[in-house]
Amino acid sequence: MGILGDIGKVVIGGVLGGPAGALAVFTVEHGQEVIEGTIDFARQVVTIGEDVYRAIPPEAFAIAGDPLHGLLKHEFEDELILLGYIAGDAVIYAGLTWPVAGPFGAAAHLYAAGGVVFGFIDHRRLNDQEWEMAQYIFRDTLPDREHIVLTNVAGIDGRPFTFPIAPLGVPVVINLAGKYDPHSTTPDGALLYHEMTHVWQAKRAALREVYLYDARVGVTREEPYDFNPGKQWREYQMEQQAAIVEAWTLGATQRQGKFDPGVHDQFALATPLFRYVNGNIRRSSDADTSSGQSLAQLLADGGHDTLAEMYSAPPAPWWS
Ligand SMILES: [Zn+2]
Repeated sequence: MGILGDIGKVVIGGVLGGPAGALAVFTVEHGQEVIEGTIDFARQVVTIGEDVYRAIPPEAFAIAGDPLHGLLKHEFEDELILLGYIAGDAVIYAGLTWPVAGPFGAAAHLYAAGGVVFGFIDHRRLNDQEWEMAQYIFRDTLPDREHIVLTNVAGIDGRPFTFPIAPLGVPVVINLAGKYDPHSTTPDGALLYHEMTHVWQAKRAALREVYLYDARVGVTREEPYDFNPGKQWREYQMEQQAAIVEAWTLGATQRQGKFDPGVHDQFALATPLFRYVNGNIRRSSDADTSSGQSLAQLLADGGHDTLAEMYSAPPAPWWS
């Protein structure tokens, strides 16, 4: 583990960027020490003290890009760092990992010290089954299919997390950690569509920053995922919104420490959560929706004329 292994987030002062080939210098306060770091744009290398990190194609950070962002790997160790903007600050986010001998044997990293870092992050686009369900849940409110990338990278504590890797929200990378399967459908569909809700949020926000959905959970709130139905969509935090979509795919209606699955069928129409899918998710909107569940109210909130426009049976879910 490099020097940054015990630091979750390093805020870099000053302005980054500049002409290609420029060398940016920054300092990191680590305990009593002040450590110097450099970003070599031309060589796609970041050094922090004695530690050297190399950019990972195709996720390499943009040379002289603004915003500057990208994944880099420690020269010798299994440690990833993310260079980017979080909430407006230029930061280095450390301690990311990936399953070296993951459940699907996705590991084989071909990194050679001093050589080219290539191919050790396993990634793929959504397969047909995952994409069909995504379109059912989100309809046409997501980025293009090729702009959504699944990987085996893990965040702090091995957790999945999602971030838009470039300005304007795409492409968006969903890091599924140990839940990633390089060859077939993600077994945990509820998790996948939780993370896809962050993709939906990223597209709506068109963030000019790297927002690490889920990666910082637990730092600021005890139970950021818990919710009760009944409020307006915009009153829920981002993690609560993702949990609402996740709950709908489970047939649950709330989360208090855990979901209450089985209260309804998965993807049910007659749940207190359908108003958010119908009036917010599928309309890419924060607009208020009715707390009632009458057909007339639901049709109006969703902008539909007929029940068939509003609701159809889902593709068969492969999780419960
Ligand atoms: Zn989340």
